[in-house]
Amino acid sequence: MPESGESSETADPPPRRRKAHLAPLPVLALLALALGWFWRGDDAGAVREFEVMRTYARIAIPAGSGSHLPASDLADLAEKAVREVDALMSPFGGDSDVRRLNEAPAGAWVEVNPLTWRVVMEALRWHRLSEGAFDPTIGPVKGLFQFNRTEVDSWPDAQTLAEARERVGAEKLLFDREGMRLSWERDGMILDLGAIAKGFAVDRAAEVIAAQGVKNAIIDVGGELRLLGQKPGEPPAPWRVGIRHPRDEGRTLETLELSGQAVATSGDYENFFVHQGRRYEHIIDPRSGLPLTGGAASVTVIHPQSCLAADAMATTLCVLGSDQIDEFMRRQARGLFSRGVRAIVLLVGPDGGLRRREFNLDQAGALRIEDNPVGEGE
Ligand code: AMP
Ligand code: MG
Repeated sequence: MPESGESSETADPPPRRRKAHLAPLPVLALLALALGWFWRGDDAGAVREFEVMRTYARIAIPAGSGSHLPASDLADLAEKAVREVDALMSPFGGDSDVRRLNEAPAGAWVEVNPLTWRVVMEALRWHRLSEGAFDPTIGPVKGLFQFNRTEVDSWPDAQTLAEARERVGAEKLLFDREGMRLSWERDGMILDLGAIAKGFAVDRAAEVIAAQGVKNAIIDVGGELRLLGQKPGEPPAPWRVGIRHPRDEGRTLETLELSGQAVATSGDYENFFVHQGRRYEHIIDPRSGLPLTGGAASVTVIHPQSCLAADAMATTLCVLGSDQIDEFMRRQARGLFSRGVRAIVLLVGPDGGLRRREFNLDQAGALRIEDNPVGEGE
């Protein structure tokens, strides 16, 4: 997803193109683990890689996917589904729903595609659930900063920041359910679905190929993943997904074994800038109106069905930060975890050391939190 609103001048630069950038995506070791197995010729399966949503997507359909269609046709369908979501929800796309809405004056109603409607309604639900920490209208503030991994000297002045903040607030996005129409309460607002649309694109691709009988596949859009079924074989095995070390691109911190779930990761190590020695990431805290700094280095959410939910929750937990994650989890535990959600949060301590906190529910339905320092050797 183009990660910000306003215009191409204020957008982050496109992803670096060198091959190594394929790996820095947050949760990715899986293809390295699975590729040799997949790539056995045309009729054995298909791996498709392409650039979309200002990141990289990979679709891997194994032989024995469960569908009667050839793997390459299934990869075509999945790619088309991802590209359709991008075409509807990109802030830059020629005639995307999001762009039309962002160019509409206050009070004008903009009819959107049912897929866009679904994502916007989910984004508003996460806004409520997070009590404002997740806000899909954060665009005007985000547009004041450049998250291009460089040292930045300048900082927007207080008046510019205050003016941008006045144009943020999901409650100022009006909707008409009957007509599937959206409208702004005031001018200059920007819808930014960057925290949720990649997850939805993954779900959509999964939905489309599952309708063709696919039981086993991997769909990855910028590190947001769905692991359908299992890795076929004798016997079938769970898919293996690596969580990257947030301070060492080449290192995998741990490997998850997953069958059927969705995974999403948000972190401070992909899009950020450094100002006066502090790292500021591309997620904005709507309560302070500033980019996050000094919070979670990475949050990985594993969700049993929905990559959209994993994506929205990973961003939400980053905004809540170490002070509020526990309280949010306790409050939402039953709703979120009774369906098998897990969250793995990597926090940076004052000394720069990492702590790993994992949240899930025990057998009795109580929230369980495991907290461990991450050792140097891990
Ligand atoms: P993710 O990588 O999924 O955590 O999404 C980060 C992107 O979501 C940013 O690049 C922004 O486009 C957008 N964003 C930033 N802050 C927020 C926020 N507080 N709530 C929702 N979306 C946000
Ligand atoms: Mg997200």
